[in-house]
Parts: sequence; structure tokens; C-alpha cells
Amino acid sequence: MSSYWIDSINSLKNFDTITKNYECDICIIGAGITGLTCGYYLSKLGFNVIIIEKDIIGLKASGNTTGKITYQHNLIYDYLIHSYGKKYAKAYLDANKEAIINIKNIIDIENINCDFEYKSNYVYTTNQDELTKIHAEIEALHSLNEDVEFVTETSLPFKIAGAVMNKNQAQFNSVKYMYGLANCITKNNSLIFCNSTASDFQKDKDGYVTSVNSYKIRSSNIIVATHYPFKKLSRILFY
Ligand SMILES: Cc1cc2nc3c(=O)[nH]c(=O)nc-3n(C[C@H](O)[C@H](O)[C@H](O)COP(=O)(O)OP(=O)(O)OC[C@H]3O[C@@H](n4cnc5c(N)ncnc54)[C@H](O)[C@@H]3O)c2cc1C
Repeated sequence: MSSYWIDSINSLKNFDTITKNYECDICIIGAGITGLTCGYYLSKLGFNVIIIEKDIIGLKASGNTTGKITYQHNLIYDYLIHSYGKKYAKAYLDANKEAIINIKNIIDIENINCDFEYKSNYVYTTNQDELTKIHAEIEALHSLNEDVEFVTETSLPFKIAGAVMNKNQAQFNSVKYMYGLANCITKNNSLIFCNSTASDFQKDKDGYVTSVNSYKIRSSNIIVATHYPFKKLSRILFY
């Protein structure tokens, strides 16, 4: 099954493949939403960034999401409060609320057309026996001063037993958003290369050397944003 977001774009822009060695401030490996968001903020701050992507932008996890931007990740706050305490749960909530604001700010500042809309988010059950979990989540969120509601009606074409409804969440076309970020990055004295695979990186005295196809990128810092690590983490942690 293919992604609605990917299918909604007629043709995905293919950035050039790397054809020579480069030097830059920060080399970012992976052009999913993580790599592109880092690249956006860093290039905006004036760093010279190079992002390398082994495929083309948008085809991996970030282009295959449900496109929702929410702080409600399944039922999580009751679990966080009971496992780690209220302070930790509040920090998680605040960080995710801030992410919604940050994404909207980027969209507005950069005028990115990505079908962003504020929507309510629902986590529902059709099973009466699971309603205790929904109520526990609502109680947990109320204890964090969040205005959430228990509802039994949604626009779903089937009956539910109940749901937690969070207002002021959002949805967007994640692929359009990523190409919007990519366009901003290339306007900020930075580069993106696609079909360019990092096979390794090594620390040297002034920074890092990343091997990409048969070329090298020398940079002061690197960010690995490949979703799954492509290199043994134990070797990175010792640096
Ligand atoms: C079905 C599904 C639905 C989801 N729905 C949502 C949702 O609605 N809302 C939400 O917030 N989150 C959602 N998520 C989670 C979200 O998609 C991920 O957390 C996020 O997309 C991860 O982004 P990323 O940039 O880290 O990874 P990716 O988007 O996978 O990007 C990593 C990039 O690195 C590249 N790469 C890998 N190895 C190399 C290499 N050696 N050299 C160069 N490039 C390399 C890959 O090609 C890829 O483009 C969902 C996830 C799934 C699977």
C-alpha cells in the first residue's frame, strides 16, 4: 500500500547526487523529517549544512505517517505519571505541545503549503471493558491541567464505546512539508544530495569525515538522522 501523502504529489523533486568532496559546518545524514528539521534550524542560524539522503526525500517513515501532529501518542500520560512521575509527564506534554507550535510557526514564516489544519485528536475504543483506560488517561491529563474531554461520538462511520478528545491538535501533508523545508535549506547557503548513501564516518582531529558514495564530506559536526543507526553505536559513544 502506498502513502496518501506521497501519492498526492505528482512528481517528487530529485536533488542532485553527490559528485565531489565537500567541506561544511554540519553534515546531516538522512533527509526525513528529523534531518530536514535540524537542517532547517541550523541553516537558518547561518551554519553551512550538507544533508545527504540515500534515496529521495519523503519515501521513508516521514512520508508514510498518518500525518497527525499531536501530543497524544496513544494512551501515554497515565502510564508516564505512574512510571516516572508527574514532572516527567508534564515535560513530555510540554515538549510535544511546543512541537505543534514550532511546526505551525515554520509553516507560517516560510509560507509552506502543506495542507496544515487544526483538528481534534481522538484515541478511542470500541470495547466497553477498555473504557477504564480512557478515563484514567483523561484524569491523568486533567491532573496536568489539560482541557481534554470524554466523548462517545466521533465522525467515524462506526460506533465507539468512548474516546479521549484533545482539541487544537493538527494534521498536515508530511511530504509537502518536508519539501518546503528542503527548499528553505537550499536557500540558506546549504546543500541537499539525494541518492547519496553514507557508508561510514570517522572522527578526525578537526571534526568528522563522512564517506558518501565514493566521496568524502569533512565537517565540524555531524548529525545522524537515519531513523535506524547505520553504524554501530558503541563506536560513536566512545568518541
Ligand atoms: C505507519 C506510521 C505512522 C506514523 N504516524 C505518525 C504520525 O501521524 N505523527 C507522527 O508524529 N509520527 C508518526 N509516525 C512516526 C514518524 O513517522 C517517525 O517518528 C518520523 O517520521 C521519523 O523521522 P526520521 O526523519 O527520523 O526518519 P525517516 O523519515 O525514516 O528518515 C530517515 C532518512 O534517512 C535516510 N537514510 C538512512 N540511512 C542512510 C544512509 N546510510 N545514508 C543516507 N541516508 C540514509 C533514509 O533514506 C530516510 O530518508 C508514524 C510512523 C509510522 C511507521
